[in-house]
Amino acid sequence: MSQNIQDKVIVITGASSGLGEATARLLSAEGAKLVLGARRLDRLTALVEELNANGGQAVAQQTDVTARQQVEALVQVAMDAFGHVDVMLNNAGIMPQAPLASLPVEDWDRQIDVNIKGVLYGIAAVLPHMQARKSGHIINVSSVAGHKVLPPGTVYCATKHAVRAISEGLRMEMTESNIRSTIISPGAVATELNDSINDAQVRDSFNAFYDQVAIPADSFARAVAFAISQPDDVDINEILFRPTRQE
Ligand code: NDP
Repeated sequence: MSQNIQDKVIVITGASSGLGEATARLLSAEGAKLVLGARRLDRLTALVEELNANGGQAVAQQTDVTARQQVEALVQVAMDAFGHVDVMLNNAGIMPQAPLASLPVEDWDRQIDVNIKGVLYGIAAVLPHMQARKSGHIINVSSVAGHKVLPPGTVYCATKHAVRAISEGLRMEMTESNIRSTIISPGAVATELNDSINDAQVRDSFNAFYDQVAIPADSFARAVAFAISQPDDVDINEILFRPTRQE
């Protein structure tokens, strides 16, 4: 069991599948108290039942991260159930990649709303509580796509660059408040993310690429656990990882 995870109160957005679900499993096994948010309540409820049947302490709250009040309600569930929040994992995200010239303007809006504003709403919901306690840890999920521009994922890359900028600014602004900020930037990990690509040609090419190289979601969960498990005076600023076989 890792140090510094047991009994921590950890809120995870996008916990109904993929990286968030795998992280919930690992952190629950490490003794964390979890508050899990996503839109698909049936998936969250099944996960919470599984975790609690195995001795975990987890609750589910239906949450759309594009609605600020719902993100505040998610954090309030954590406050009511456990009294405080130690870690906020802003993980929810979508990747409807398509060429700019096809003008998928609604998908641009959705990516900005989920991938950027959703992260900001998560920060807004926990920051007052963490500042009052002078303790806390905010982990935001960027991507390899936050390090370079990879058409046709131009807008997705822009959102993931923004997540890195926000997280680094947060880190610098929060040193006096003793709040840690970590960016986790994965490469290709096998999840349901490619299902959010509406352009069939782009989706097929991503699926073919992921079939070749993608690694299991517990790779991400271990990165999160590593960042959380450091002593409180150590802030892992960023973890960038890829499948060994990904360029
Ligand atoms: P999944 O599609 O498996 O999971 C995405 C999660 O986000 C789901 O739980 C989904 O739940 C949730 N979500 C989507 N929209 C919303 C919303 N409006 N409100 C609340 N939750 C929402 O993909 P991943 O697990 O791969 O994605 C997790 C994060 O990892 C994303 O930020 C993604 O960009 C990032 N990432 C993933 C990589 C990969 O290769 N898999 C690589 C780099 C980064 P629901 O639909 O129930 O709301």
